[in-house]
Amino acid sequence: MANADLVNPEPLEDDRSYDEQIRPAKLADFPGQEPIKDKLRIAIQAAKQRSEPLDHLLLSGPPGLGKTTLARILANEMGVDIKQSSGPVIERQADLSAILTSLESFDILFIDEIHRLNHAVEETLYSAMEDFEVDIMLGKGPTARSMKIGLKPFTLIGATTRAGLLTPPLRARFGDVCRFDLYSPAELVRIIERSARILSVPVTDDGSLEIASRSRGTARVANRLLRRVRDFAQVKGDGTITREVADAALNLLRIDPLGLDDMDRAILETVIRKFSGGPVGLSSLAVAVGEERQTLEEVHEPYLIQIGFLKRTPAGRVATPLAFRHFGMTPPAGDSGQTSLL
Ligand code: ADP
Repeated sequence: MANADLVNPEPLEDDRSYDEQIRPAKLADFPGQEPIKDKLRIAIQAAKQRSEPLDHLLLSGPPGLGKTTLARILANEMGVDIKQSSGPVIERQADLSAILTSLESFDILFIDEIHRLNHAVEETLYSAMEDFEVDIMLGKGPTARSMKIGLKPFTLIGATTRAGLLTPPLRARFGDVCRFDLYSPAELVRIIERSARILSVPVTDDGSLEIASRSRGTARVANRLLRRVRDFAQVKGDGTITREVADAALNLLRIDPLGLDDMDRAILETVIRKFSGGPVGLSSLAVAVGEERQTLEEVHEPYLIQIGFLKRTPAGRVATPLAFRHFGMTPPAGDSGQTSLL
């Protein structure tokens, strides 16, 4: 696995069977995201008491934080089936109608990347969500006519990494929006310890903390690093993940104590050295570090921004004084890293 893939919060082919093995199935087994869980426990109980489906729900937040997992947990807790699809996959109204008419009462339809639905499909979703009915076109050309078909009451769970791109009419049809936050190291420790238990890998307290602190606040990255460190512990040690083992393994993978990889460091050093701290536009930065624009924006930037090393300003990306100091350099005098550039 390439070094850059280790910190990628999107699922990779290599992750799939591993993911299935360690994916929590109940709310009680899902560490973190406490405000969301508190809200959902009440929603589940209320829906069950009233014998109604759950309200339509929008889950928003960066990739790898557990949106898909939570949707599956909700189906489990409600005792219903879940059908999974994603915005770009549902190309035609007929595709969506086929999925909707196949749902049983109270089933959950999970649409990942819901902000990427095309306009016609999205419009079909409006009446499905609001009135549990869809218009189906019969025939073609001048003799074509539309017919309304009733649907069984269902719950739509939409997931998005870009809530801002949702159209207002779609957004308004969700009963509730749950915003996922990056996990704290303590929460990631609980996720790592749980996964390690399932995989029967012995891990010490400081061993799991070492992995957690270098996982960019992302559950998927934590689980992926655990897997790499497990290999290292088995080959180079006695199988137990201690702090020393985790540190040595992650150094070998070139993940530094803050969770930065080679590309993160290249980005920061480029902004600092080649562009005097910025501002620099995303496209120029992508060319300078030899990486795709989209990868910079979706994989690297969110974490660099979260730890306060990079800022997005209208004029471009700017390295903060914190980033200068991390590389042993003095920030430009009198420059807070943002004010003079705005
Ligand atoms: P998303 O849909 O937000 O991209 P996923 O639900 O696919 O994220 O989760 C990514 C991986 O991280 C999965 O392997 C999942 O089991 C794990 N994961 C996510 N959140 C948690 C959590 N709170 N506890 C344990 N594992 C989690």
